[in-house]
Amino acid sequence: MTVKGDGEVGEDALTGAEEAELAARRRAMDREAADAPDVVSALADADERAIESALRPKRLTEFTGQARVREQLSLILTSALRRGRPPDHLLLSGPPGLGKTTIAMIVAAELGAPLRITSGPAIERSGDLAAILSTLSEGEVVFIDEIHRLARPAEEMLYLAMEDFRVDVVIGKGPGATAIPLDIAPFTLVGATTRSGLLPAPLRDRFGFTAHLDFYAPEELEQIIRRSAGLLGVTLTDEGAAELSTRSRGTPRIANRLLRRVRDYAEVRADGVVTLEIARTALEIYEVDEYGLDRLDRGVLEAVVRRFGGGPVGLSTLAVALGEEAETVEVVAEPFLVRRGLLARTPRGRMATAAGWTHLGLTPPPSLAELPTLFD
Ligand code: ADP
Repeated sequence: MTVKGDGEVGEDALTGAEEAELAARRRAMDREAADAPDVVSALADADERAIESALRPKRLTEFTGQARVREQLSLILTSALRRGRPPDHLLLSGPPGLGKTTIAMIVAAELGAPLRITSGPAIERSGDLAAILSTLSEGEVVFIDEIHRLARPAEEMLYLAMEDFRVDVVIGKGPGATAIPLDIAPFTLVGATTRSGLLPAPLRDRFGFTAHLDFYAPEELEQIIRRSAGLLGVTLTDEGAAELSTRSRGTPRIANRLLRRVRDYAEVRADGVVTLEIARTALEIYEVDEYGLDRLDRGVLEAVVRRFGGGPVGLSTLAVALGEEAETVEVVAEPFLVRRGLLARTPRGRMATAAGWTHLGLTPPPSLAELPTLFD
């Protein structure tokens, strides 16, 4: 499954954003009554993807935050352009919604190269990958999202492709099968993963550049929110923008989503301007707390504290207690709870910190009082 030239979406950003937004709102209205949408989930559904592509920064200069990664990328891309050769393969890791796909698209745009987008789970057999790689044009950028979920045979094919720009196409089956080596055009692979720990070392070693994306600071999110507000035609006050930025869980995807939900509220219940009061009231309705924690985050924290006495508790036990996949708890909820200093990962399991207890309005046990928190 490949999508070519996703960068075409929303060429005229204003119209693109508005159109996508309109379509999504119509669909969202049908659903809205049934169940409150998970406004702070870091994952995006199909409607949201359409809006996202319209809000995505298209060039490196438009990309806010992640200063070090931006600087490093800028050097790599400039030098590749000067040499007239595709840059090294790039690996991006970090929680969902922090800009991995956006960076892959920017890399292609900055190089003036076409982009192919696929993902680990979409490549079921090595033949699927061979089909992509053997039809590449010189310098093309290939983005593989969730690369840690690539099946083993495809992964092995990728090793050779990354290193020697070659794939072995196997013809026939059983003892008579022959591998025919096929040269492929030099390309740049951009791999993204939410779980870099799961990447086998031989794959990780084949990337010339590895970047870890961290959660964004409120000032950076505020800038992103203002830019998106401009594209969506939303008026917001400085205080309104600041309030949204501190409740966005350090995640641009969530910042953009909260902006749209708060805008809806402002349009229906007020004069359309997102002020501090409007932002606060709307976020309360959507159950976003002052740290930006959502139902899943709070569920994790509450389970650790109330069901397991503050921990330590193992990930799988915790996931079962919540009725969630262990991966969802680990990839979606935990990184921010840990970053915020509410939860600690210890060798014996997950533990709520003193700040975690306090956040739930409870008094931490005395044994926790001296434990340092990880949040600056
Ligand atoms: P990921 O691939 O890491 O899940 P995406 O690249 O899809 O995240 O980003 C999600 C949304 O957040 C995109 O629509 C994009 O508009 C926005 N976004 C991410 N990073 C930035 C950034 N640095 N500046 C502005 N918007 C961003």
